[in-house]
Amino acid sequence: MDETQLRLDGNAAAGMLREVFVHEMSDARGACASCGAIAQMGSQHLYMYPLSPGAVLRCQYCENILMVFVHAGERYRLGLQGLTWLEIRDGAEAGTNV
Ligand SMILES: [Zn+2]
Repeated sequence: MDETQLRLDGNAAAGMLREVFVHEMSDARGACASCGAIAQMGSQHLYMYPLSPGAVLRCQYCENILMVFVHAGERYRLGLQGLTWLEIRDGAEAGTNV
């Protein structure tokens, strides 16, 4: 079996993405790409101005930009350039401290 037999069109990820982004995101943990600190997204520093189309989430330890959110027109844009990874709890595990 070669890799072309495992490769699907990116549209095949739609169901998985739909499952991931319905969960509580403030509870999600992420690793800062700059300092390596791991923390819940809800404990990071959010910068936004009233009526602005977006916001910036910065690392509470080094102020690296973790995420950029923009909602303009009929689109959302989410930049995750400052995270090495983002871990989102499956609803089945909510309430456990795994
Ligand atoms: Zn950091």
